[in-house]
Amino acid sequence: MATDYYGILGVRRDATPEEIKRAYRKLARELHPDVNPDPEAQQRFRDVTNAYEVLSDPEKRQIVDLGGDPLAPGGGAAGASSPFGFGGLGDIMDAFFGGGASRGPRSRVRRGNDALLRIELDLAETAFGTTRDITVDTAVVCSTCTGAGAAPGTHPSTCSTCHGRGEVQQVTRSFLGQMVTSRPCPRCSGTGTVIEHPCRDCGGDGRVRRRRTLTVKIPAGVEDGMRIRLSGEGEVGPGGGPPGDLYVEVSERPHPVFTREGDDLHCDLRLPMTAAALGTVATLETLDGTETITVKPGTQPGEVIRLAGRGVPHLRAVGRGHLHIHIVVETPTKLDGEQERLLRELARLRDEDAPAVVGSGPGGGTGLFSRRRGGRRGR
Ligand SMILES: [Zn+2]
Ligand SMILES: [Zn+2]
Repeated sequence: MATDYYGILGVRRDATPEEIKRAYRKLARELHPDVNPDPEAQQRFRDVTNAYEVLSDPEKRQIVDLGGDPLAPGGGAAGASSPFGFGGLGDIMDAFFGGGASRGPRSRVRRGNDALLRIELDLAETAFGTTRDITVDTAVVCSTCTGAGAAPGTHPSTCSTCHGRGEVQQVTRSFLGQMVTSRPCPRCSGTGTVIEHPCRDCGGDGRVRRRRTLTVKIPAGVEDGMRIRLSGEGEVGPGGGPPGDLYVEVSERPHPVFTREGDDLHCDLRLPMTAAALGTVATLETLDGTETITVKPGTQPGEVIRLAGRGVPHLRAVGRGHLHIHIVVETPTKLDGEQERLLRELARLRDEDAPAVVGSGPGGGTGLFSRRRGGRRGR
């Protein structure tokens, strides 16, 4: 509700400036703190003075006459006297100009921004965790003014443009007629106070840039793209406001042997045809050290040897993923004469030297062709 400034001064709405001045003088003589120490009178004196300040200023008086309140944050246009049927001018302004959810002076002190930093880690580091020292360029509280922004020994003063309200109102013309609009005070950026003597070191912002080194603990089992939050390690806010958070994003370097899927690891083991047929032993450098892999005779392409618990530790549970070794059998190429002769001999001994018969007769064909079962796991 808008304040009834006319009522406070006891004048009619069409009072002349001279009548307004006379009414104010009369009331001020009765209520002035020098002559009337009653606390109630002092409050009335302030009200009367405000009313006079408003009604003696043609621009502010116009705001009052349009249903606004030049002293109230946001104008608080009166519903009753509003020419619009709903809610008053404030709502209209909001509807047309996306007006302020936050009215009144805003604090100079605000929370600082969050910061994001990326670090590259090897698989062994993401798997088992590590600690890293990181250097961040960040905003910290200015030690000279302890965040206040004012030079030591001085204080911010009330803004003379908006009288500390943080916003100014003006009458504008639009297709709806004359309207009262309010906007953040340009002089104080809506804070209601002005730093007349800014701190030399921070220029009044209350914070300065500084390079800081932090130790980040990377837990075991983190994955590429995960972010670790370091609460309160971001930038300090303007006016020495509370700091934001620092996020450290993990980027995992590709491993030369292992592909990671969640907490499972996969790799290929390439075997010559003979080794797959006869069986062999291979050594593999896992995350846990050298492992001996026994390949059974008659191992088929696509077979998977699983090393349980040799994958990445789970981040939020006990236990670890598995390591899957996918068998790839390599058919020999470029056989020399002796090798080819031996292979032909082998084929003859195994009765495998007949050419494959394409097509299948009634009842199932040759048995060389069959439906494809699930292929090797995709990577
Ligand atoms: Zn400072
Ligand atoms: Zn201001």
